Amino acid sequence: MGALDGRVAVVTGGNGGIGFGLAAALLDAGAAVDIWGRDETKTAEALERLRDRPGRPAITGRRCDVTDECDVAAALAAAVARHGAVHTVVANAGVGHQVPFVDTTLADWRHVTKPNLDGVFLTFREAARHMKDRHAAGGGGGALVAVSSISAIHGSPRHAAYAASKAGLLGLVRSVAVELARYGVRANALLPGWTVIDTHPEMHADPRFVEVTTRRTPVRRWATPDDLREAIVFLADPSVTFHTGDTLVVDGGYTVQ
Ligand code: NDP
Repeated sequence: MGALDGRVAVVTGGNGGIGFGLAAALLDAGAAVDIWGRDETKTAEALERLRDRPGRPAITGRRCDVTDECDVAAALAAAVARHGAVHTVVANAGVGHQVPFVDTTLADWRHVTKPNLDGVFLTFREAARHMKDRHAAGGGGGALVAVSSISAIHGSPRHAAYAASKAGLLGLVRSVAVELARYGVRANALLPGWTVIDTHPEMHADPRFVEVTTRRTPVRRWATPDDLREAIVFLADPSVTFHTGDTLVVDGGYTVQ
Protein backbone atom coordinates (compact mmCIF):
# COMPACT_ATOMS: atom_id res chain seq x y z
CA MET A 1 0.00 0.00 0.00
CA GLY A 2 1.38 3.40 -0.98
CA ALA A 3 0.54 6.60 0.90
CA LEU A 4 -0.98 7.99 -2.31
CA ASP A 5 -2.90 4.97 -3.60
CA GLY A 6 -5.99 6.16 -5.49
CA ARG A 7 -4.79 9.77 -5.64
CA VAL A 8 -4.16 11.77 -8.80
CA ALA A 9 -1.38 14.36 -9.02
CA VAL A 10 -0.48 16.96 -11.65
CA VAL A 11 3.17 18.04 -11.86
CA THR A 12 3.87 21.10 -14.02
CA GLY A 13 7.29 20.90 -15.62
CA GLY A 14 7.23 17.20 -14.75
CA ASN A 15 9.03 16.35 -17.98
CA GLY A 16 12.56 17.02 -16.68
CA GLY A 17 14.83 18.03 -13.82
CA ILE A 18 13.28 18.34 -10.36
CA GLY A 19 9.72 17.95 -11.71
CA PHE A 20 10.57 14.57 -13.20
CA GLY A 21 11.92 13.43 -9.82
CA LEU A 22 8.78 14.68 -8.05
CA ALA A 23 6.54 12.90 -10.58
CA ALA A 24 8.50 9.66 -10.09
CA ALA A 25 8.22 9.94 -6.29
CA LEU A 26 4.45 10.49 -6.44
CA LEU A 27 4.06 7.54 -8.81
CA ASP A 28 6.14 5.31 -6.58
CA ALA A 29 3.89 6.27 -3.64
CA GLY A 30 0.87 5.02 -5.60
CA ALA A 31 -0.57 8.15 -7.27
CA ALA A 32 -1.59 8.43 -10.90
CA VAL A 33 0.38 11.36 -12.33
CA ASP A 34 -0.23 13.83 -15.17
CA ILE A 35 2.84 15.82 -16.26
CA TRP A 36 2.63 19.18 -18.04
CA GLY A 37 5.25 20.98 -20.13
CA ARG A 38 5.65 23.04 -23.29
CA ASP A 39 8.10 20.72 -25.05
CA GLU A 40 6.14 17.73 -26.34
CA THR A 41 9.25 15.73 -27.26
CA LYS A 42 10.61 16.09 -23.73
CA THR A 43 7.22 15.13 -22.31
CA ALA A 44 6.98 12.02 -24.53
CA GLU A 45 10.50 10.95 -23.46
CA ALA A 46 9.70 11.53 -19.79
CA LEU A 47 6.49 9.48 -20.07
CA GLU A 48 8.48 6.65 -21.63
CA ARG A 49 11.00 6.70 -18.76
CA LEU A 50 8.26 6.89 -16.11
CA ARG A 51 6.29 4.06 -17.72
CA ASP A 52 9.40 1.88 -17.46
CA ARG A 53 8.78 1.70 -13.73
CA PRO A 54 7.03 -1.67 -13.35
CA GLY A 55 3.57 -1.93 -11.80
CA ARG A 56 3.03 1.82 -11.65
CA PRO A 57 -0.42 3.41 -11.89
CA ALA A 58 -1.44 5.55 -14.83
CA ILE A 59 1.01 8.14 -16.04
CA THR A 60 -0.12 10.68 -18.60
CA GLY A 61 1.17 13.97 -19.96
CA ARG A 62 0.13 16.92 -22.01
CA ARG A 63 1.37 20.12 -23.62
CA CYS A 64 0.61 23.11 -21.44
CA ASP A 65 2.20 26.54 -21.18
CA VAL A 66 1.41 27.54 -17.60
CA THR A 67 1.52 31.24 -18.53
CA ASP A 68 -1.47 30.73 -20.83
CA GLU A 69 -4.81 30.89 -19.02
CA CYS A 70 -6.65 28.82 -21.66
CA ASP A 71 -3.90 26.19 -21.77
CA VAL A 72 -4.05 25.74 -18.00
CA ALA A 73 -7.85 25.45 -17.94
CA ALA A 74 -7.79 22.93 -20.79
CA ALA A 75 -4.99 20.87 -19.23
CA LEU A 76 -6.71 20.67 -15.84
CA ALA A 77 -10.01 19.70 -17.49
CA ALA A 78 -8.23 17.04 -19.56
CA ALA A 79 -6.50 15.61 -16.49
CA VAL A 80 -9.82 15.44 -14.63
CA ALA A 81 -11.52 13.83 -17.65
CA ARG A 82 -8.73 11.25 -17.94
CA HIS A 83 -8.33 10.39 -14.26
CA GLY A 84 -11.71 11.35 -12.74
CA ALA A 85 -10.28 13.94 -10.33
CA VAL A 86 -7.10 15.79 -9.39
CA HIS A 87 -6.13 15.64 -5.70
CA THR A 88 -2.63 17.17 -5.76
CA VAL A 89 -1.13 19.87 -7.94
CA VAL A 90 2.60 20.51 -7.83
CA ALA A 91 3.36 23.86 -9.49
CA ASN A 92 6.99 23.18 -10.31
CA ALA A 93 7.43 24.77 -13.75
CA GLY A 94 9.82 27.68 -13.59
CA VAL A 95 12.76 29.38 -15.24
CA GLY A 96 15.87 31.27 -14.16
CA HIS A 97 17.68 34.10 -15.92
CA GLN A 98 20.98 35.61 -14.87
CA VAL A 99 21.47 39.34 -15.44
CA PRO A 100 22.97 42.16 -13.32
CA PHE A 101 20.16 44.04 -11.59
CA VAL A 102 20.95 47.44 -13.15
CA ASP A 103 20.86 45.87 -16.64
CA THR A 104 17.60 44.00 -16.06
CA THR A 105 15.00 45.04 -18.61
CA LEU A 106 11.28 44.79 -18.04
CA ALA A 107 11.29 42.00 -20.62
CA ASP A 108 13.95 40.11 -18.57
CA TRP A 109 11.86 40.61 -15.45
CA ARG A 110 8.66 39.34 -17.07
CA HIS A 111 10.48 36.43 -18.75
CA VAL A 112 11.04 35.08 -15.23
CA THR A 113 8.05 36.31 -13.24
CA LYS A 114 5.50 35.22 -15.85
CA PRO A 115 6.09 31.45 -15.55
CA ASN A 116 7.36 31.52 -11.95
CA LEU A 117 4.60 33.63 -10.42
CA ASP A 118 1.75 34.14 -12.93
CA GLY A 119 2.05 30.49 -13.97
CA VAL A 120 1.67 29.24 -10.42
CA PHE A 121 -1.26 31.60 -9.84
CA LEU A 122 -3.07 30.26 -12.93
CA THR A 123 -2.28 26.65 -12.05
CA PHE A 124 -3.35 27.00 -8.42
CA ARG A 125 -6.50 28.92 -9.29
CA GLU A 126 -7.69 26.30 -11.78
CA ALA A 127 -6.86 23.47 -9.38
CA ALA A 128 -8.50 25.24 -6.44
CA ARG A 129 -11.72 25.71 -8.40
CA HIS A 130 -11.81 21.98 -9.12
CA MET A 131 -10.94 21.05 -5.52
CA LYS A 132 -13.54 23.44 -4.09
CA ASP A 133 -16.22 22.02 -6.39
CA ARG A 134 -15.24 18.49 -5.42
CA HIS A 135 -15.42 19.42 -1.75
CA ALA A 136 -18.91 20.88 -2.25
CA ALA A 137 -19.92 17.57 -3.84
CA GLY A 138 -18.59 15.69 -0.79
CA GLY A 139 -15.40 14.51 -2.47
CA GLY A 140 -12.74 16.02 -0.22
CA GLY A 141 -10.33 18.85 -0.98
CA GLY A 142 -6.75 18.52 -2.10
CA ALA A 143 -3.13 19.56 -1.80
CA LEU A 144 -1.42 22.44 -3.61
CA VAL A 145 2.38 22.56 -3.63
CA ALA A 146 4.43 25.43 -5.07
CA VAL A 147 8.07 24.69 -5.84
CA SER A 148 9.81 27.81 -4.56
CA SER A 149 13.54 28.01 -3.81
CA ILE A 150 15.95 28.99 -1.07
CA SER A 151 16.30 32.19 -3.13
CA ALA A 152 13.01 33.17 -1.51
CA ILE A 153 14.89 33.39 1.81
CA HIS A 154 18.31 34.75 0.96
CA GLY A 155 19.47 37.24 -1.64
CA SER A 156 20.28 35.94 -5.08
CA PRO A 157 22.73 38.23 -6.86
CA ARG A 158 22.05 38.69 -10.59
CA HIS A 159 18.78 36.77 -10.11
CA ALA A 160 16.53 39.43 -8.56
CA ALA A 161 13.50 38.51 -10.68
CA TYR A 162 13.95 34.85 -9.79
CA ALA A 163 14.29 35.50 -6.06
CA ALA A 164 11.35 37.93 -6.10
CA SER A 165 9.12 35.43 -7.92
CA LYS A 166 10.08 32.61 -5.56
CA ALA A 167 9.45 34.83 -2.50
CA GLY A 168 6.12 35.86 -4.01
CA LEU A 169 5.08 32.22 -3.99
CA LEU A 170 5.33 32.15 -0.19
CA GLY A 171 2.74 34.93 0.07
CA LEU A 172 0.54 33.17 -2.46
CA VAL A 173 0.75 29.85 -0.62
CA ARG A 174 0.02 31.37 2.78
CA SER A 175 -2.98 33.34 1.49
CA VAL A 176 -4.45 30.39 -0.35
CA ALA A 177 -3.86 28.12 2.66
CA VAL A 178 -5.89 30.42 4.91
CA GLU A 179 -8.66 31.03 2.40
CA LEU A 180 -9.13 27.44 1.23
CA ALA A 181 -8.69 25.51 4.48
CA ARG A 182 -12.47 25.41 4.91
CA TYR A 183 -12.70 23.46 1.65
CA GLY A 184 -10.16 20.87 2.76
CA VAL A 185 -7.49 22.33 0.47
CA ARG A 186 -3.96 22.56 1.89
CA ALA A 187 -1.28 24.74 0.29
CA ASN A 188 2.43 24.52 1.03
CA ALA A 189 5.70 25.60 -0.53
CA LEU A 190 8.69 23.34 -1.12
CA LEU A 191 12.06 25.13 -1.09
CA PRO A 192 14.84 23.03 -2.60
CA GLY A 193 18.46 24.05 -2.17
CA TRP A 194 21.13 23.65 -4.86
CA THR A 195 20.03 20.64 -6.89
CA VAL A 196 21.92 18.76 -9.60
CA ILE A 197 19.71 18.34 -12.66
CA ASP A 198 20.50 16.72 -16.00
CA THR A 199 18.51 19.38 -17.88
CA HIS A 200 20.93 22.22 -17.06
CA PRO A 201 24.48 20.81 -16.84
CA GLU A 202 25.81 24.39 -17.08
CA MET A 203 24.51 25.02 -13.54
CA HIS A 204 27.14 22.71 -12.12
CA ALA A 205 29.78 23.06 -14.81
CA ASP A 206 31.77 25.72 -12.96
CA PRO A 207 33.92 23.82 -10.40
CA ARG A 208 34.65 26.97 -8.37
CA PHE A 209 30.91 27.74 -7.99
CA VAL A 210 30.11 24.15 -7.07
CA GLU A 211 32.96 24.12 -4.55
CA VAL A 212 31.84 27.36 -2.87
CA THR A 213 28.17 26.33 -2.65
CA THR A 214 29.09 22.84 -1.46
CA ARG A 215 31.36 24.26 1.25
CA ARG A 216 28.50 26.49 2.42
CA THR A 217 26.15 23.48 2.64
CA PRO A 218 26.46 21.69 6.02
CA VAL A 219 25.82 18.22 4.48
CA ARG A 220 28.64 19.04 2.00
CA ARG A 221 26.94 18.21 -1.28
CA TRP A 222 24.29 19.44 -3.68
CA ALA A 223 20.90 17.71 -3.64
CA THR A 224 19.57 15.47 -6.37
CA PRO A 225 15.83 15.39 -7.19
CA ASP A 226 15.70 12.13 -5.17
CA ASP A 227 16.37 14.15 -2.01
CA LEU A 228 12.88 15.66 -2.40
CA ARG A 229 11.02 12.34 -2.59
CA GLU A 230 9.89 12.09 1.04
CA ALA A 231 8.99 15.78 1.20
CA ILE A 232 6.70 15.72 -1.83
CA VAL A 233 4.93 12.54 -0.72
CA PHE A 234 4.38 14.08 2.72
CA LEU A 235 2.98 17.30 1.21
CA ALA A 236 0.59 15.30 -1.02
CA ASP A 237 -0.45 12.77 1.65
CA PRO A 238 -4.22 13.10 2.34
CA SER A 239 -3.76 11.78 5.88
CA VAL A 240 -1.64 14.85 6.73
CA THR A 241 -4.64 17.11 7.24
CA PHE A 242 -3.18 19.65 9.71
CA HIS A 243 -0.14 20.81 7.72
CA THR A 244 -0.82 23.89 5.60
CA GLY A 245 0.58 27.34 4.84
CA ASP A 246 4.10 26.09 5.44
CA THR A 247 7.45 26.46 3.73
CA LEU A 248 9.35 23.19 3.71
CA VAL A 249 13.06 23.77 3.15
CA VAL A 250 15.15 20.85 1.82
CA ASP A 251 18.61 22.37 1.38
CA GLY A 252 21.12 20.36 3.39
CA GLY A 253 21.18 23.16 5.97
CA TYR A 254 22.36 25.87 3.51
CA THR A 255 20.03 28.59 4.77
CA VAL A 256 20.65 28.08 8.49
CA GLN A 257 24.44 27.85 8.66
P1 NDP B 1 14.29 22.53 -15.44
O1 NDP B 1 14.61 23.60 -16.45
O2 NDP B 1 14.81 21.18 -15.71
O3 NDP B 1 12.75 22.44 -15.21
C1 NDP B 1 11.87 23.46 -15.48
C2 NDP B 1 10.60 22.82 -16.03
O4 NDP B 1 9.62 23.82 -16.16
C3 NDP B 1 10.82 22.20 -17.39
O5 NDP B 1 10.36 20.88 -17.32
C4 NDP B 1 10.00 23.04 -18.35
O6 NDP B 1 9.37 22.20 -19.32
C5 NDP B 1 8.97 23.65 -17.41
N1 NDP B 1 8.50 24.97 -17.84
C6 NDP B 1 9.19 26.14 -17.91
N2 NDP B 1 8.39 27.12 -18.34
C7 NDP B 1 7.17 26.57 -18.53
C8 NDP B 1 5.92 27.07 -18.96
N3 NDP B 1 5.75 28.35 -19.31
N4 NDP B 1 4.87 26.21 -19.03
C9 NDP B 1 5.00 24.91 -18.70
N5 NDP B 1 6.17 24.37 -18.29
C10 NDP B 1 7.24 25.20 -18.21
O7 NDP B 1 14.88 23.10 -14.06
P2 NDP B 1 14.67 22.60 -12.54
O8 NDP B 1 14.26 21.18 -12.52
O9 NDP B 1 15.87 23.01 -11.80
O10 NDP B 1 13.49 23.53 -12.07
C11 NDP B 1 12.25 23.04 -11.56
C12 NDP B 1 11.77 24.00 -10.48
O11 NDP B 1 12.64 23.89 -9.36
C13 NDP B 1 11.78 25.46 -10.91
O12 NDP B 1 10.64 26.11 -10.43
C14 NDP B 1 13.05 25.99 -10.25
O13 NDP B 1 12.97 27.37 -10.01
C15 NDP B 1 13.04 25.19 -8.96
N6 NDP B 1 14.31 25.10 -8.25
C16 NDP B 1 15.44 24.55 -8.84
C17 NDP B 1 16.63 24.45 -8.11
C18 NDP B 1 17.88 23.83 -8.68
O14 NDP B 1 18.94 23.96 -8.05
N7 NDP B 1 17.82 23.11 -9.80
C19 NDP B 1 16.69 24.91 -6.72
C20 NDP B 1 15.45 25.45 -6.21
C21 NDP B 1 14.32 25.53 -6.95
P3 NDP B 1 9.25 22.67 -20.88
O15 NDP B 1 10.64 23.01 -21.30
O16 NDP B 1 8.68 21.48 -21.58
O17 NDP B 1 8.32 23.81 -20.88
